[in-house]
Amino acid sequence: MAQAIYINGDYFSREDAKISVYDHGLLYGDGVFEGMRIYSGKVFALEDHLVRLYESARAIALNIPIDISAMRSAVEATVEKNGLDEAYVRLVCTRGGNQLGLDPYRCDDPQVIIIVDKISLYPEKYYTEGLDLITASTIRNHPAALSPRVKSLNYLNNIMAKIEAIRAGCVEAVMLNHKGEVAECTGDNIFIVRRGRLLTPPSHAGILEGITRNTVMELARDAGIEVVEETLTRHDLFIADECFLTGSAAEVIPAVRLDGRLIADGKVGPITKQLNELFRAHVNR
Ligand code: PMP
Repeated sequence: MAQAIYINGDYFSREDAKISVYDHGLLYGDGVFEGMRIYSGKVFALEDHLVRLYESARAIALNIPIDISAMRSAVEATVEKNGLDEAYVRLVCTRGGNQLGLDPYRCDDPQVIIIVDKISLYPEKYYTEGLDLITASTIRNHPAALSPRVKSLNYLNNIMAKIEAIRAGCVEAVMLNHKGEVAECTGDNIFIVRRGRLLTPPSHAGILEGITRNTVMELARDAGIEVVEETLTRHDLFIADECFLTGSAAEVIPAVRLDGRLIADGKVGPITKQLNELFRAHVNR
């Protein structure tokens, strides 16, 4: 089946799916987005992603031209049209615009784009052996400058840290906040296990409140594991019993090394394994 990309209610082939070079999404990273997974033909946690999208939009005073229920229908129709059972959905809302100036109030043509595409998964080896992480020297955006709770099109902060990770031979980097506390990774949330408890930085540490993060916290609580949102430092990661990351693309992925040091014995821990299995069962994978 040919790929059908949704732009403002119409469908285009990949070659013909185009928007203006004057769009402020391109010129200034002015817009918001979501990344979602399709499992067995259905978008996982669609409602949660839509709520986060509209909240991100509100936070940057962007009026998405269709309401949440029309957006839900648009996503479902695009997913159906593309006919992929296991795939990824990228939903993008830009500010639009047809002038070079910064003024968002001169933009009256926001663009809604929905792309369904094959998903490129992390190699299975990362799940069995665990990731190697570094701590990025790029700190996460200060929440008072641009809140990490907004899933905006401006990902340069994350990209700067990702560059550091890749140059160090890693796929992910831990990002600290302006106070030196652990925030999250460039495209994933972070958890540790310490003495049987599951710990993760709170929202006010300056993180994206991941949908996978929420799901994993619920699954852990249902399994009788104590879950605490608590301020963490790099020290806590060094002395953790287990560490893993969560994200729509990564799901639950273990991390076994930080800045060249093993986390515990450097093996994937039992609670990480359990939560990975619970998550996969939850999404029917
Ligand atoms: N943090 C950041 C910075 C992200 O970009 C993402 C999404 N890739 C996440 C965390 C994980 O969020 P979710 O579980 O909703 O995919």
